[in-house]
Amino acid sequence: STATPRIPATLIAGDGIGPEIMEATLQALDALGAPFDWDAQTAGLGGIQAAGDPLPDATLASIRKTRLALKGPLETPSGGGYRSSNVRLREAFQLYANVRPTRTLIPGGRYENIDLLVVRENLEGLYIGHEAYIPIDDDPHAVAMATGVNTRKGSLRLLEYAFEHAIATGRKKVTLVHKANIMKALTGLFLETGQQLWERKYKGRIELDSVIIDACAMKLVLNPWQFDVLVTTNLFGDILSDLTAGLVGGLGMAPGANIGTDAAIFEAVHGSAPDIAGKGIANPTALMLAAAMMLDHCKLSEMATRLRQALDATFNADGVRTGDLKGKANTAEFTKALIARIKNG
Ligand code: NAD
Repeated sequence: STATPRIPATLIAGDGIGPEIMEATLQALDALGAPFDWDAQTAGLGGIQAAGDPLPDATLASIRKTRLALKGPLETPSGGGYRSSNVRLREAFQLYANVRPTRTLIPGGRYENIDLLVVRENLEGLYIGHEAYIPIDDDPHAVAMATGVNTRKGSLRLLEYAFEHAIATGRKKVTLVHKANIMKALTGLFLETGQQLWERKYKGRIELDSVIIDACAMKLVLNPWQFDVLVTTNLFGDILSDLTAGLVGGLGMAPGANIGTDAAIFEAVHGSAPDIAGKGIANPTALMLAAAMMLDHCKLSEMATRLRQALDATFNADGVRTGDLKGKANTAEFTKALIARIKNG
């Protein structure tokens, strides 16, 4: 008989509630029989404590080898001159696409049947941190400037990933989100590159339209069902993906994938929740959904589907929810109910 091939993967439990939600997620993956061989590493505050660096060399080396990681939330201490570990990971592994699906898991919220995907460019745009002040007279901060940089090459690889991923997952329409009426060069290049790529390679395989970011924000609130896949530049994607998370009950339910040429890193969108860390009450759903994306990425979609269905059954058939979802279960109780669903359907 042929055993399922093992898949080496890096594991970063993260800070705050990270270890609690990671423990729950690992239990769920074990119950599914997911074939990951974990290499546990540190980053964030945990990295500083273990190795004096929020992104230790051993962690980078591990991801370089496995090219695959599941990551809890990381804290970047203010002061000490540390750069965000998340930003450093993006740069180190050229994680150019940030992929954030939002799907209604619990009916009865403000919006039903949401199933949206935001694909955000993750390395360029107004996010590159090239900022400066110009002093005038005795005001050192009289003028503030920020430079945005979008390249045709960078736009192209992100857009190509977005079209391919949209088609592979059975999506019907891609919407390019931009502000080319005002930022004609910066976001015009992205828009034009997307339109030309579609004409050349994707016309007839998937629909394309485009919308200006401000109108997009309004339309998402009035009628989110008109959209399917939203593809956009770094800063707009940052904002829009939080908006779409809000449509399905907030960041506690939102997973994200960072896809690059050299690695793929899966995470919850929320942070380390220091206000509830150590209390055993955190909601592990977002990290579990990130693990489901990781299973999909590894072509283990049957397991990913079982995990999503077990979450659905735990929430809705069993009515077991954590406190942030107005439920009474703590992390361990929720996880126990979920694992019963994974094992027994
Ligand atoms: P946060 O997401 O940690 O918390 C915001 C609120 O949501 C808090 O009230 C928290 O208790 C609640 N919350 C978040 N996740 C939850 C969960 N799974 N279950 C139940 N409640 C949950 O945002 P913040 O307070 O702005 O950030 C805290 C720290 O996390 C900061 O150091 C920040 O830099 C870091 N952060 C990291 C990432 C990442 O690594 N991807 C993302 C965002 C923030």
